[in-house]
Amino acid sequence: MSTPPDTQPQIACRLLAWAKQHLRDLPWRHTRDPYHIWVAEVMLQQTQASTVAPFFTRWLAQFPTIEALATAPIDQVLKAWEGLGYYARARHLHQAAQCILSEHEGRLPADRDQLLALPGIGPYTAGAILSIAFGQDEPVLDGNVRRVLCRVFNITTDPRRASTQRRLWELARSLLPPGRAGDFNQAIMDLGATICTPRSPLCPQCPLMDLCEAAHLGVQEQRPVSRPRRRIPHYDVTAAIIWRDGQVLITQRPLEDMLGGLWEFPGGKREPGETLADCLKREIREELGVEIIVGKPLPPIRHAYSHFRITLYPFHCQIQRGEPQALGCAAWRWVTPDQFDRYAFPAADQRIIAYLRERGAPRPHQEDRDA
Ligand code: SF4
Repeated sequence: MSTPPDTQPQIACRLLAWAKQHLRDLPWRHTRDPYHIWVAEVMLQQTQASTVAPFFTRWLAQFPTIEALATAPIDQVLKAWEGLGYYARARHLHQAAQCILSEHEGRLPADRDQLLALPGIGPYTAGAILSIAFGQDEPVLDGNVRRVLCRVFNITTDPRRASTQRRLWELARSLLPPGRAGDFNQAIMDLGATICTPRSPLCPQCPLMDLCEAAHLGVQEQRPVSRPRRRIPHYDVTAAIIWRDGQVLITQRPLEDMLGGLWEFPGGKREPGETLADCLKREIREELGVEIIVGKPLPPIRHAYSHFRITLYPFHCQIQRGEPQALGCAAWRWVTPDQFDRYAFPAADQRIIAYLRERGAPRPHQEDRDA
């Protein structure tokens, strides 16, 4: 089945009509404020709308303007993001807010090239801001739109290929109803999120069903075509809960690293042939320049990131020799367990905190037994 020439205007018409009844009522749908749209679109990258909604509302209460965000300390920004994951998004929002304050008088520019020059704003986010907040005829292409387009037009090449990406952007642009791009973009994204889902799409409820080539051929679940999955690597990682006089040593990850700027219990990845205790002693020596005694283990924690999985082995520890120095971290601090809440921690470390809250500090003899 090839797409007849009048299909494209019909797609826009049907999606706009469908959206009138079915568009989800989400907090960012009640505003055209460019800053609000920008925050929502960044939060929505890799995170579902239902998860984003409470974060979005809290974020705007805490950072009501671009200036408030730009002038907030990075620790406060990361703490507000805690639980959303992919923390580079929060760091980029913060950096971009500072650029907007210094170079654009605190207002998001309504210009594609100027938006693309800001940290963390790529073609998708720029398209969303320009179409939804500024009413410009600009397309968006996120995972939901890509899936709908690959199915409706039965695209049989890998959507990650540059040539397919170009074709998809062209298609997304060609479908835009002049003057209604913002509404259309939101409609097609919502269709992908709620009807044209990755598995078991609800085709009988879809307004595009009789226009959809993949549905016609019965291959909708095979579109977009995907590469065979690569094996996800797994790493053993250790973490030291280093105690001194009721306080625990926490370290801040270097800003340029994954989870940069977040606080954690120091440690790192086990090398081949290393015991967990030797790994932890080496990591702490490299990161903080101190020798530690590795004590009682806490229960291991399994955690999955987007491209790898870890088993995290935490141990109660004590410093045997030396004073901490920030050799492999951005900063370090002694804090009492009731001060943990002031810092943003990655999800795996939050589970250590939950365990410590439940069990309290170890008895002294438990801290200094080598594992
Ligand atoms: S008919 Fe099915 S596969 Fe095609 S766009 Fe609609 S939900 Fe997706």
